[in-house]
Amino acid sequence: MSQQGYVAAPPYSQAQAGMGGYSAGFGNPPPQSHYGAYGSPPQGYSAPPTGVLKPPASSSSGMPPPPVSSQYGANIQQNGAHHHSFPPPVASAPSMSPYGQPPQSAFYSMAQAPPPTQQLTNQMSAMNIGGYGKLDGQRPMQVPQSPSSSAAPQQYHTSPPPAMGHPPLSPPGQQLSSFGSPPPMATMGSVAAPPMGMSGPPGPGVHQPPLGPQGYPQQPGSPISGPYGAQMAGPQMAGPQSGAFQGGFPGGPAQMAGPPQKKLDPDSIPSTTQVIEDDQAKRGGQVYVTNIRGQVPPLVTTDFTVQDQGNASPRFMRCTTYSFPSTADLAKQCKVPLAAIIKPFATVPKNETPLYIVNHGETGPIRCNRCKAYMCPYMQFMDGGRRYQCGFCSCVNEVPVQYFQHLDHMGRRMDLYERPELSLGSYEFIATLDYCKNNKPPNPPAYIFMIDVSYNNIKSGLVKLICEELKTLLDRLPKEEGAETSPIKVGFVTYNKILHFYNVKSALAQPQMMVVSDVAEMFVPLLDGFLVNFQESRAVVNNLLDQIPDMFADTNESETVFAPVIQAGVEALKAAECSGKLFIFHSSIPTAEAPGKLKNRDDRKLVGTEKEKTLFQPLRGVYEQLTKDCVAQGCCVDLFLFPNQYVDIATVGDVPSHTGGSIYKYSNFQVEVNGQQFVSDLRRDVEKSIGFDAIMRVRTGTGFRATDFFGAVYMNNTTDVEMAAVDCDKAVTVEFKHDDTLSEESGAVMQCALLYTTIGGQRRLRIHNLSLNCSSQLSELYKSCETDALINFFAKSAYRAMLNQPLKTVREILVNQTAHMLACYRKHCASPSAASQLILPDAMKVFPVYMNSLLKTPTLVGSTELSTDDRAFHRLLVNAMGVEETQVLLYPRLIPLHTMDVSSDAIPAPVRCSEERLSESGIFLLENGLSMFLWLGQACPPDLIQNLFNVPSLGHLSSEGMSLPVLDNAHSRKIHSIISSISQQRATSMKLLIVKQKDRSEMLFRQHLVEDKGLHGGASYMDFLCYVHREIRQLLT
Ligand SMILES: [Zn+2]
Repeated sequence: MSQQGYVAAPPYSQAQAGMGGYSAGFGNPPPQSHYGAYGSPPQGYSAPPTGVLKPPASSSSGMPPPPVSSQYGANIQQNGAHHHSFPPPVASAPSMSPYGQPPQSAFYSMAQAPPPTQQLTNQMSAMNIGGYGKLDGQRPMQVPQSPSSSAAPQQYHTSPPPAMGHPPLSPPGQQLSSFGSPPPMATMGSVAAPPMGMSGPPGPGVHQPPLGPQGYPQQPGSPISGPYGAQMAGPQMAGPQSGAFQGGFPGGPAQMAGPPQKKLDPDSIPSTTQVIEDDQAKRGGQVYVTNIRGQVPPLVTTDFTVQDQGNASPRFMRCTTYSFPSTADLAKQCKVPLAAIIKPFATVPKNETPLYIVNHGETGPIRCNRCKAYMCPYMQFMDGGRRYQCGFCSCVNEVPVQYFQHLDHMGRRMDLYERPELSLGSYEFIATLDYCKNNKPPNPPAYIFMIDVSYNNIKSGLVKLICEELKTLLDRLPKEEGAETSPIKVGFVTYNKILHFYNVKSALAQPQMMVVSDVAEMFVPLLDGFLVNFQESRAVVNNLLDQIPDMFADTNESETVFAPVIQAGVEALKAAECSGKLFIFHSSIPTAEAPGKLKNRDDRKLVGTEKEKTLFQPLRGVYEQLTKDCVAQGCCVDLFLFPNQYVDIATVGDVPSHTGGSIYKYSNFQVEVNGQQFVSDLRRDVEKSIGFDAIMRVRTGTGFRATDFFGAVYMNNTTDVEMAAVDCDKAVTVEFKHDDTLSEESGAVMQCALLYTTIGGQRRLRIHNLSLNCSSQLSELYKSCETDALINFFAKSAYRAMLNQPLKTVREILVNQTAHMLACYRKHCASPSAASQLILPDAMKVFPVYMNSLLKTPTLVGSTELSTDDRAFHRLLVNAMGVEETQVLLYPRLIPLHTMDVSSDAIPAPVRCSEERLSESGIFLLENGLSMFLWLGQACPPDLIQNLFNVPSLGHLSSEGMSLPVLDNAHSRKIHSIISSISQQRATSMKLLIVKQKDRSEMLFRQHLVEDKGLHGGASYMDFLCYVHREIRQLLT
């Protein structure tokens, strides 16, 4: 791909990672205040402009109050000329502070008080985990501290770490005394993990194994305490390592035997639902203005409106923390990953402004000569406007003559508010031919539908369903704004062991089939007439879609090929010189003689062994080459799977998961059971907003850089993130590392630039800018953490690490890092308190419940009862997820419906995800973005059952295949409205599964109660918290 002009010059500032001791700007001119343009006095951005501060009249005159939508209104599509449409983003947030404000600003001082902490006291005598102080600072408020608690901290009893893949020892809510028994060795099996902190060499100065990019030791079996040893482990680490914890249960005999303890109150440990409710109450319904550097956005679960005033909306970018540590040493010390989760095509709600499009003309977008960063609010103009200093590399550039503009007395360009690229966090540039393949403008993309017509798919009625659906769906292909028809061309292929191509040229009376049986050397037998405009060829296409189910009605062919199907799609796009997407509807493991032929390698005996990872490693060779071909052509692969048995998802999902594609799975597909779910997914997938042939680069300010990328992407080198396509649901998680000291004054700036082709065939650059704070105080970092973003990062990095390391090692690292992050907070940020108190940073107080849930996901838990394909599928899904998706996946919503107010529009408030919250007389809805359940308690009121199911009692409902009828009463209407409003928020359609309490299918539901012990192993939240607390205490001693 020749995309000259886009690929940046060699990175500036090549200081090595870890050399945090160097002064700021090492190797570069000392960084200036890049935010000076906005004026350090608060009136820069926030105060209503007066006198000479006023931006040009044309824009100031159009300065309406929020909401945002009214400001920008209908002037969206114009290219570059925003002179009358671009009001100053000023008046709406008079109280907000400007950029670059010194730490003593309002924003800071408000937050200057010690961060509220959650304190959890484990009392030795009473063993009540006390309420965590919600309001106070460091005081152990509400904690009835018994005199003995600090006197006998060594008696602290901790649970074994069932998170490590062990079966639960006791059901939730039982007495802690059960922890006193030694673990049943029989249950350890080969999964048994050496306990955290045990397998490493003892003591200080432990050898640190070479770290992978995520901090995972490179060598399998490396001592897991290694990464932390030098930082936190004191000589005490040697204690528990002396073989006391056999079978993988840390705790040691001394700790495990103790007096009986009283029941813990589950209400006393930090609650995710409470955190979500509190944030909604505090920030819900408000306008979030992005004019403050390092500002922590509302939670993903909160409803808010974004007004872009110089930083990208959190819908596009979220970070694990909004205050980076200033040195590599600090970063290493706290072990909090520094990462951004970028969803470059995120859907913007209707009441927010779509991205402006900027055209810098024939010369293309203005960029820094040195680091190639694009013009953005972080560039500081000087010399009367003749030059500007890059906010990323500090290079001073000449302003091109055609871009010159005078500066006002504040040093800001007079046209600041007329140019999106000077005042907004996100916008698009029209790209010039330099950014196009072969310097030619791209053709509009094509969608190719490739249908497996083997026996199973015909018999299940799937082929007929697809063909019927396509007849209406093809009218709903994505269009350019305001266009009547879609420029996307369509093509059709059917296949089993051989491929059938169809000529659907509009001039034909009948479609023509061309068969390719030599699947070893795939070629496309026709060029003209294969990819057509649906509007023009409607009659022929519909004729074809009518015929396909009949043509194969009598097929006996059950063998399929797979790789040649993708190859055929790529070749077709190559021939048409366009990018595009393949929709492959496939049902079985491809065993027919052909490249990419697969065999069943689902060996569950490997679960829990060193070789378990091989189950998730895709077979290379043909598929690796296919991925490269697809990415080079801008060919995204979407895979709809309908398996009745193992299909090797790790391998067949490999190309989709590297081309920005999606994977859907409908096991044991039956039209009447999953048909609607599949059709909804297909519709949404075909219609969704998408960019093709994309390449993304994340540039950063001096002192740190992007080092690793996670997502449905392909990396050919260390910096360019390639995506054959990127749609509104795909997120890329980017990890950052220091290579120098960061300046607290200039903060940490980043710019994500995504070059892509629109559905209309226009080449564009989408730019997202974000500025974070930097601090030498770790308390700032902890205060600015975002738990939901952190867990997204941990999920993706763990799911990648498991390809190269035993799962138990991955799980141990996760637990270790959790303890380490929290111990560092305790050591450096919390005020002194008894060691028996668990003190959590406010912004991370529910991090442990998410982490424990991650450890219990089917992918990581390692149970022979779980299907390998399900685990591989889950792994690939999470890899492409954004923060919203991982949040609800790891902490599902459990909504009580029996108490709902049928007259209200609101969705009832969710309760904690635990069995304890269920009641026999209740009805609950549970959803996690992938599955949805309706749970019916054994004693739920008959009148409610009557209203919802139109039967007199629960006993009248059969346990199999229950569905929820639409009935004409308030309860039924309300529940359907809740379900539909939840469904609209999710990227995939969820099939509603109805389960009765104590039915067999209830297990499917219960595995989502993430605060309880896992059905396939894994600790309860309470046990995990106690375990982590113990680990923290070890790290601190
Ligand atoms: Zn630069």
